[in-house]
Amino acid sequence: MDRPEVTRLVIVGGGTAGWITAAAFARLLGERLTIELVESEAIGTVGVGEATIPQIIRLNTILGIDEHEFLRATSGTFKLGIEFVDWGSKGSRYLHTFGETGMTVGNVAFHHHWRRSAGAAGDPKGLWNWSLHQMAADQARFGKLDRVGNTAMAGLAYAYHFDASRYALFLRAYSEARGVTRTEGIVQSVQRDGESGDIRAITLQNGTTVAGDFFIDCTGFRSLLLGEELGVGYQDWSRWLPCDRALAVPSERLPVLVPYTRATAKDAGWQWRIPLQHRTGNGHVYSSGFTSDDAAADTLLAGLDTRALGDPRPIRFTTGRREAFWAHNCAAIGLSSGFLEPLESTSIHLIQSHVSRLIQLFPRAGDPSAMREEYNRRCAAEFAQIRDFLILHYHQTTREDTEFWRYCKHMAVPDSLTHKLALFGASGRVGRDVDDLFREASWVQVMLGQGIMPADYDPMADRMSEDQLAEFLANLRTLMSRAVAGLPSHEQYLARHCPVDAALLAA
Ligand SMILES: Cc1cc2nc3c(=O)[nH]c(=O)nc-3n(C[C@H](O)[C@H](O)[C@H](O)COP(=O)(O)OP(=O)(O)OC[C@H]3O[C@@H](n4cnc5c(N)ncnc54)[C@H](O)[C@@H]3O)c2cc1C
Repeated sequence: MDRPEVTRLVIVGGGTAGWITAAAFARLLGERLTIELVESEAIGTVGVGEATIPQIIRLNTILGIDEHEFLRATSGTFKLGIEFVDWGSKGSRYLHTFGETGMTVGNVAFHHHWRRSAGAAGDPKGLWNWSLHQMAADQARFGKLDRVGNTAMAGLAYAYHFDASRYALFLRAYSEARGVTRTEGIVQSVQRDGESGDIRAITLQNGTTVAGDFFIDCTGFRSLLLGEELGVGYQDWSRWLPCDRALAVPSERLPVLVPYTRATAKDAGWQWRIPLQHRTGNGHVYSSGFTSDDAAADTLLAGLDTRALGDPRPIRFTTGRREAFWAHNCAAIGLSSGFLEPLESTSIHLIQSHVSRLIQLFPRAGDPSAMREEYNRRCAAEFAQIRDFLILHYHQTTREDTEFWRYCKHMAVPDSLTHKLALFGASGRVGRDVDDLFREASWVQVMLGQGIMPADYDPMADRMSEDQLAEFLANLRTLMSRAVAGLPSHEQYLARHCPVDAALLAA
C-alpha cells in the first residue's frame, strides 16, 4: 500500500500537551512539516499541572527559551524538591530533593557512608543533615550553584512551579511565531482511510475539515482520537494507586515563598501546595472509595495556609495508561495517553519525553510499524517505572489509622517494586533500571524518608577508617552550610531576576 510522505501534522488539543508538542515540532521539524493545532475554547483545558521536575530545563534549552523571561511570563518560582508530610508515619516529614545528599566517595554512594556512621543510629531521616537542598529549603534560599566550594560536590539542581494557563499561552505565542496555525473549533467527526484505517481528516462543528498525514491526540482525558476513534483500550492501575478524584483551589500567595512543593498525606489521599509569585496552587487528591466529595472539600479548605480565592474545582481520573501510545497514524500525548497522579510532578515530563521520543522516531514515509513498536515499548516502560515509584509512597508506610492507609499498606504491589524494596532493605542498594527517570538518590531519599532503614551498607565503605569518616562528614557539613549561607533568599532571587509584571500580578 502506498503511504504518502508525512508533511502535514495535525495536533488536536491546546492544553499543556498540545502546545508543548506544537512548540517542539515547530522547533525541530518545522521546516519539513506544516503544523496545525485545533482546540476549543468552549471545552477548555484541565487547568492544573503547575509543578515540574528538572528535565523541563532541557525542554527549555531545546526550545531556546530564556529562563527568566519564562518565569516572568508564568509567575513562576524555583523548586528544589517535594516535601512529604505524614507519609511514612503521622508526624514524619522529608524532602525528596532534586540533588544528591553528601557526595560519592571511592565509588560508594554517600548514603552507604552515612549508614555506617554513628550518626545514622537507626534514624533514617538523619541523611538530610547532609542535603544541600534541605539546608536551602529550610532557609527559603535559592541561587545558581553549580558546585559546593571547589569540591566535586554538585550544587543545586532545580525545577519550576508556574501558572498552568500562562504556560500554555506562553508556548502558544512561541509556536505561532514559528509557523504553527491555530484553528478554533470542536471536533465533530473523524474520517478514516477505508483500506488502512488511518485517520485522514477531522471535521469541526462549523463544517471546517482539517486533513493531515499524522495526527497527535492531545484532547485530554477524553482521548478523542486514540481512545474513542481508534478504540485503543485503557489499563486501569487504580488497584495500586486508588486515588481517582481531585479538588483544586487557588489561595493567596504564601507570606514566604519557599522553593519546594509540599505534599501532605490526608485520611484518604493527599494535598498539594505549590507556591507561585501571585498565588498558591492547592489541591486534594483522594479516593472516592474511601471518602466523600464533601469531606474531601472540607479537608482541602481546612488544610490551606492562606485564604482561598475561589471554590474547589472537581477533576476525575483513572490512573493507568492506554494499551498503546501510537496506533495507525496517531499518537496520544498528555492526559489522552494515560495518567499518573501528580505526586511526583511527572505528567509534564511525560509530555516532554513522549514528544522528544516521537520526534526521534517520526516517520518520513513508508511503513511506520517498526518506529511505532519501538515508541510504544519505550513509553510503556517509562510509565511502569514511574508507577512503581509512586506506589512506593503509599505502600511503604506504618500508617494504619484510616481504611485508606490500611488498604495501601497491605495491598499487593508489582513484583518489580517488591524486589526494589527487598534489595534496599537488605543492603542499601538500589535496583534501578538504566533508563529509570528517577536517579539512585531519588529512590534512596524516598525509601529512607518512608522509613526503611537498610540492614547493611556497601562493604566498600569500610575502606575509610572511622576517624576519616567522622572528619569527612564534619567537613562536608561545614562546606555545605557555608555554600548555602552565601545564597540569596528565594524572594530576593526572583525579585532581582524574574519579577512578574505588576499587570500580571493583579490579573
Ligand atoms: C489534579 C491534577 C494535578 C496535576 N498536577 C500536575 C503537576 O503538578 N505537574 C505536572 O507535571 N502535571 C500535573 N498534572 C497533569 C497536567 O495537568 C497535564 O499533564 C497537562 O495539563 C496536560 O493536559 P492535556 O493538555 O493533556 O489536557 P487538557 O488540558 O485537558 O487539554 C485538552 C485540550 O483538548 C481540547 N479538546 C478536547 N476535546 C476536543 C474536541 N472535541 N475538539 C477540539 N478540541 C478538543 C481542549 O479544548 C483542550 O485544549 C495534573 C493533573 C491533574 C488531574
